Amino acid sequence: MLYLILGLFLGSFLNNVAYRLVKGEEFLFSRSKCPYCKKELSWYELIPIISFIIQKGRCRNCKNKISLRYPLTEIIAGIFTYGAASKSGILVNLNFSNLILFLYIIFFYSILFILALYDLETFYIEEKTFYFGLLGWIIFTLIFLIIPIQKFELTGGFNYFFNLPIKTKYSLILNQIFIAFIFSIFILTLFVVTLGKGIGLGDLKIAFFLGLFLGPGDILAVILLSSFLGAIIGIYKILKIRKFFNEIPFIPLVFASSLVLLFYGEYLFKILNSFMLKLS
Ligand SMILES: [Zn+2]
Repeated sequence: MLYLILGLFLGSFLNNVAYRLVKGEEFLFSRSKCPYCKKELSWYELIPIISFIIQKGRCRNCKNKISLRYPLTEIIAGIFTYGAASKSGILVNLNFSNLILFLYIIFFYSILFILALYDLETFYIEEKTFYFGLLGWIIFTLIFLIIPIQKFELTGGFNYFFNLPIKTKYSLILNQIFIAFIFSIFILTLFVVTLGKGIGLGDLKIAFFLGLFLGPGDILAVILLSSFLGAIIGIYKILKIRKFFNEIPFIPLVFASSLVLLFYGEYLFKILNSFMLKLS
Protein backbone atom coordinates (compact mmCIF):
# COMPACT_ATOMS: atom_id res chain seq x y z
CA MET A 1 0.00 0.00 0.00
CA LEU A 2 2.81 2.37 0.93
CA TYR A 3 4.51 1.71 -2.41
CA LEU A 4 1.27 2.19 -4.29
CA ILE A 5 0.88 5.65 -2.73
CA LEU A 6 4.54 6.44 -3.35
CA GLY A 7 3.91 5.48 -6.98
CA LEU A 8 0.96 7.87 -7.26
CA PHE A 9 3.25 10.78 -6.38
CA LEU A 10 5.92 9.49 -8.74
CA GLY A 11 3.29 9.33 -11.50
CA SER A 12 2.25 12.89 -10.84
CA PHE A 13 5.88 13.96 -11.15
CA LEU A 14 6.59 11.92 -14.30
CA ASN A 15 3.45 13.18 -15.98
CA ASN A 16 4.57 16.73 -15.27
CA VAL A 17 8.03 16.07 -16.67
CA ALA A 18 6.56 14.56 -19.87
CA TYR A 19 4.04 17.40 -20.21
CA ARG A 20 6.68 20.09 -19.84
CA LEU A 21 9.09 18.34 -22.18
CA VAL A 22 6.38 18.38 -24.84
CA LYS A 23 5.76 22.09 -24.22
CA GLY A 24 9.46 22.84 -23.94
CA GLU A 25 9.12 24.35 -20.46
CA GLU A 26 11.61 24.26 -17.65
CA PHE A 27 10.52 21.49 -15.33
CA LEU A 28 12.66 21.02 -12.28
CA PHE A 29 12.19 24.18 -10.28
CA SER A 30 8.88 25.65 -11.32
CA ARG A 31 5.49 25.07 -9.77
CA SER A 32 2.64 23.31 -11.54
CA LYS A 33 0.00 25.50 -13.14
CA CYS A 34 -3.51 24.98 -14.41
CA PRO A 35 -3.12 24.62 -18.22
CA TYR A 36 -6.12 26.93 -18.82
CA CYS A 37 -5.98 29.84 -16.39
CA LYS A 38 -2.24 29.48 -15.55
CA LYS A 39 -2.94 29.80 -11.83
CA GLU A 40 -0.20 28.19 -9.77
CA LEU A 41 -1.43 25.18 -7.83
CA SER A 42 -0.97 24.89 -4.09
CA TRP A 43 0.10 21.69 -2.35
CA TYR A 44 -3.45 20.52 -1.54
CA GLU A 45 -4.35 20.69 -5.23
CA LEU A 46 -1.45 18.41 -6.07
CA ILE A 47 -2.33 15.32 -4.03
CA PRO A 48 -2.65 12.47 -6.53
CA ILE A 49 -6.18 11.15 -7.15
CA ILE A 50 -7.57 12.73 -3.95
CA SER A 51 -7.41 16.30 -5.30
CA PHE A 52 -8.95 15.14 -8.55
CA ILE A 53 -11.87 13.48 -6.77
CA ILE A 54 -12.45 16.33 -4.28
CA GLN A 55 -12.41 18.94 -7.06
CA LYS A 56 -14.64 16.66 -9.16
CA GLY A 57 -12.09 16.78 -11.98
CA ARG A 58 -12.22 20.56 -12.34
CA CYS A 59 -9.80 23.44 -11.68
CA ARG A 60 -10.66 25.27 -8.43
CA ASN A 61 -10.08 28.63 -10.06
CA CYS A 62 -11.48 28.51 -13.60
CA LYS A 63 -13.68 25.37 -13.34
CA ASN A 64 -12.24 23.95 -16.55
CA LYS A 65 -12.10 20.17 -16.75
CA ILE A 66 -8.82 18.60 -15.71
CA SER A 67 -7.66 15.97 -18.20
CA LEU A 68 -8.18 12.33 -17.18
CA ARG A 69 -4.54 11.95 -18.10
CA TYR A 70 -3.56 13.15 -14.62
CA PRO A 71 -5.25 10.47 -12.50
CA LEU A 72 -4.51 7.82 -15.14
CA THR A 73 -0.76 8.44 -15.19
CA GLU A 74 -0.75 8.48 -11.38
CA ILE A 75 -2.51 5.12 -11.20
CA ILE A 76 -0.21 3.56 -13.82
CA ALA A 77 2.89 4.72 -11.93
CA GLY A 78 1.31 3.43 -8.72
CA ILE A 79 0.93 0.03 -10.36
CA PHE A 80 4.50 -0.22 -11.62
CA THR A 81 5.91 1.04 -8.34
CA TYR A 82 4.01 -1.69 -6.53
CA GLY A 83 5.19 -4.22 -9.15
CA ALA A 84 8.80 -3.10 -8.69
CA ALA A 85 8.46 -3.41 -4.92
CA SER A 86 7.22 -6.97 -5.11
CA LYS A 87 9.74 -7.93 -7.84
CA SER A 88 12.72 -6.54 -5.94
CA GLY A 89 11.80 -8.40 -2.77
CA ILE A 90 11.60 -5.34 -0.51
CA LEU A 91 8.04 -6.28 0.46
CA VAL A 92 9.48 -9.38 2.12
CA ASN A 93 12.97 -8.26 3.03
CA LEU A 94 13.88 -4.58 3.12
CA ASN A 95 17.67 -4.56 2.83
CA PHE A 96 20.11 -2.36 0.95
CA SER A 97 20.62 -4.52 -2.14
CA ASN A 98 16.88 -5.12 -2.56
CA LEU A 99 16.32 -1.38 -2.23
CA ILE A 100 18.86 -0.65 -4.98
CA LEU A 101 17.17 -3.24 -7.19
CA PHE A 102 13.81 -1.57 -6.47
CA LEU A 103 15.21 1.83 -7.52
CA TYR A 104 16.73 0.27 -10.63
CA ILE A 105 13.37 -1.18 -11.74
CA ILE A 106 11.56 2.08 -10.90
CA PHE A 107 14.14 3.99 -12.93
CA PHE A 108 13.69 1.72 -15.96
CA TYR A 109 9.91 2.08 -15.91
CA SER A 110 10.00 5.83 -15.23
CA ILE A 111 12.21 6.55 -18.23
CA LEU A 112 10.09 4.29 -20.44
CA PHE A 113 6.93 5.95 -19.12
CA ILE A 114 8.10 9.49 -19.93
CA LEU A 115 9.23 8.36 -23.39
CA ALA A 116 5.83 6.69 -23.94
CA LEU A 117 3.85 9.78 -22.86
CA TYR A 118 6.01 11.98 -25.09
CA ASP A 119 5.64 9.57 -28.02
CA LEU A 120 1.84 9.57 -27.67
CA GLU A 121 1.72 13.30 -28.31
CA THR A 122 4.57 13.87 -30.71
CA PHE A 123 5.40 10.49 -32.34
CA TYR A 124 9.03 11.22 -31.48
CA ILE A 125 11.50 9.88 -28.97
CA GLU A 126 12.58 12.48 -26.41
CA GLU A 127 16.38 12.71 -26.64
CA LYS A 128 17.19 14.17 -23.22
CA THR A 129 15.20 11.49 -21.43
CA PHE A 130 16.84 8.79 -23.50
CA TYR A 131 20.36 9.98 -22.65
CA PHE A 132 19.39 10.43 -19.03
CA GLY A 133 18.31 6.79 -19.13
CA LEU A 134 21.73 5.74 -20.46
CA LEU A 135 23.48 7.79 -17.77
CA GLY A 136 21.31 6.15 -15.10
CA TRP A 137 22.17 2.71 -16.41
CA ILE A 138 25.90 3.50 -16.12
CA ILE A 139 25.49 4.71 -12.52
CA PHE A 140 23.47 1.67 -11.49
CA THR A 141 25.96 -0.63 -13.19
CA LEU A 142 28.80 0.92 -11.19
CA ILE A 143 26.82 0.34 -7.98
CA PHE A 144 26.16 -3.27 -9.00
CA LEU A 145 29.92 -3.79 -9.30
CA ILE A 146 30.29 -2.99 -5.61
CA ILE A 147 27.29 -4.65 -4.02
CA PRO A 148 25.94 -8.13 -4.74
CA ILE A 149 22.50 -8.05 -6.27
CA GLN A 150 20.06 -10.43 -7.87
CA LYS A 151 19.32 -9.92 -11.56
CA PHE A 152 16.22 -8.09 -12.70
CA GLU A 153 14.22 -10.47 -14.87
CA LEU A 154 10.72 -10.15 -16.25
CA THR A 155 10.17 -13.68 -17.48
CA GLY A 156 12.68 -15.56 -15.37
CA GLY A 157 13.56 -18.78 -17.18
CA PHE A 158 12.99 -17.34 -20.63
CA ASN A 159 16.40 -15.68 -20.53
CA TYR A 160 18.28 -18.95 -20.06
CA PHE A 161 17.50 -20.04 -23.61
CA PHE A 162 19.79 -17.25 -24.77
CA ASN A 163 22.31 -16.85 -21.99
CA LEU A 164 25.91 -16.36 -22.98
CA PRO A 165 28.39 -18.53 -21.12
CA ILE A 166 30.05 -15.81 -19.06
CA LYS A 167 29.40 -15.39 -15.39
CA THR A 168 31.70 -12.85 -13.71
CA LYS A 169 30.39 -9.39 -12.84
CA TYR A 170 32.31 -7.64 -15.61
CA SER A 171 31.25 -10.13 -18.22
CA LEU A 172 27.62 -9.74 -17.17
CA ILE A 173 27.91 -6.03 -17.97
CA LEU A 174 29.65 -6.73 -21.26
CA ASN A 175 26.91 -9.26 -21.93
CA GLN A 176 24.27 -6.59 -21.45
CA ILE A 177 26.06 -4.11 -23.74
CA PHE A 178 26.51 -6.90 -26.29
CA ILE A 179 22.77 -7.65 -26.20
CA ALA A 180 21.99 -3.95 -26.65
CA PHE A 181 24.19 -3.76 -29.75
CA ILE A 182 23.00 -7.04 -31.28
CA PHE A 183 19.41 -6.03 -30.77
CA SER A 184 20.01 -2.54 -32.23
CA ILE A 185 21.69 -4.04 -35.28
CA PHE A 186 18.68 -6.33 -35.71
CA ILE A 187 16.32 -3.31 -35.62
CA LEU A 188 18.63 -1.39 -37.97
CA THR A 189 18.48 -4.29 -40.42
CA LEU A 190 14.69 -4.19 -40.27
CA PHE A 191 14.87 -0.45 -40.89
CA VAL A 192 17.00 -0.94 -44.01
CA VAL A 193 14.97 -3.89 -45.30
CA THR A 194 11.63 -2.09 -44.89
CA LEU A 195 13.17 1.13 -46.27
CA GLY A 196 12.22 2.91 -43.07
CA LYS A 197 8.51 2.32 -43.55
CA GLY A 198 7.71 -0.09 -40.75
CA ILE A 199 10.23 1.13 -38.24
CA GLY A 200 11.63 4.52 -37.33
CA LEU A 201 15.15 5.30 -36.17
CA GLY A 202 13.73 6.24 -32.76
CA ASP A 203 12.90 2.55 -32.34
CA LEU A 204 16.62 1.87 -32.61
CA LYS A 205 17.19 3.91 -29.44
CA ILE A 206 14.40 2.07 -27.64
CA ALA A 207 15.94 -1.22 -28.73
CA PHE A 208 19.29 -0.16 -27.32
CA PHE A 209 17.67 1.01 -24.08
CA LEU A 210 15.79 -2.29 -23.62
CA GLY A 211 18.97 -4.21 -24.43
CA LEU A 212 20.84 -2.51 -21.60
CA PHE A 213 18.18 -3.10 -18.96
CA LEU A 214 16.59 -6.43 -19.88
CA GLY A 215 17.67 -9.98 -20.57
CA PRO A 216 17.49 -11.32 -24.14
CA GLY A 217 14.46 -13.53 -23.42
CA ASP A 218 12.67 -10.62 -21.75
CA ILE A 219 13.28 -8.41 -24.80
CA LEU A 220 11.88 -11.07 -27.08
CA ALA A 221 8.81 -11.37 -24.83
CA VAL A 222 8.35 -7.56 -24.81
CA ILE A 223 8.64 -7.34 -28.60
CA LEU A 224 6.25 -10.24 -29.20
CA LEU A 225 3.67 -8.84 -26.79
CA SER A 226 4.05 -5.31 -28.25
CA SER A 227 3.50 -6.64 -31.77
CA PHE A 228 0.49 -8.60 -30.57
CA LEU A 229 -1.03 -5.53 -28.86
CA GLY A 230 -0.15 -3.43 -31.92
CA ALA A 231 -1.93 -5.92 -34.19
CA ILE A 232 -5.06 -5.89 -32.01
CA ILE A 233 -5.15 -2.08 -31.97
CA GLY A 234 -4.47 -2.05 -35.71
CA ILE A 235 -7.37 -4.40 -36.45
CA TYR A 236 -9.64 -2.41 -34.14
CA LYS A 237 -8.72 0.79 -35.97
CA ILE A 238 -9.39 -0.75 -39.38
CA LEU A 239 -12.81 -2.02 -38.27
CA LYS A 240 -13.77 1.12 -36.40
CA ILE A 241 -12.28 3.97 -38.40
CA ARG A 242 -11.97 2.07 -41.69
CA LYS A 243 -8.59 3.54 -42.36
CA PHE A 244 -5.93 1.10 -43.31
CA PHE A 245 -2.77 3.05 -42.71
CA ASN A 246 -2.70 4.52 -39.26
CA GLU A 247 0.46 5.02 -37.32
CA ILE A 248 0.47 3.44 -33.88
CA PRO A 249 3.07 4.87 -31.49
CA PHE A 250 5.50 2.11 -30.63
CA ILE A 251 6.93 3.17 -27.25
CA PRO A 252 3.57 3.10 -25.41
CA LEU A 253 3.14 -0.48 -26.65
CA VAL A 254 6.60 -1.39 -25.36
CA PHE A 255 5.79 0.26 -22.03
CA ALA A 256 2.43 -1.54 -21.74
CA SER A 257 4.02 -4.90 -22.58
CA SER A 258 6.82 -4.38 -20.06
CA LEU A 259 4.22 -3.53 -17.43
CA VAL A 260 2.17 -6.66 -18.13
CA LEU A 261 5.33 -8.77 -18.01
CA LEU A 262 6.40 -7.22 -14.70
CA PHE A 263 3.39 -8.93 -13.14
CA TYR A 264 2.72 -11.90 -15.42
CA GLY A 265 6.08 -12.56 -17.11
CA GLU A 266 7.05 -15.53 -14.98
CA TYR A 267 3.53 -16.92 -15.12
CA LEU A 268 3.46 -16.70 -18.94
CA PHE A 269 6.85 -18.38 -19.08
CA LYS A 270 5.59 -21.27 -16.94
CA ILE A 271 2.56 -21.78 -19.18
CA LEU A 272 4.74 -21.68 -22.30
CA ASN A 273 7.23 -24.04 -20.72
CA SER A 274 4.68 -26.67 -19.73
CA PHE A 275 3.16 -26.37 -23.19
CA MET A 276 6.56 -27.06 -24.78
CA LEU A 277 7.06 -30.04 -22.48
CA LYS A 278 3.76 -31.53 -23.59
CA LEU A 279 4.79 -31.16 -27.22
CA SER A 280 8.13 -32.88 -26.75
ZN1 LIG B 1 -7.74 26.79 -14.05
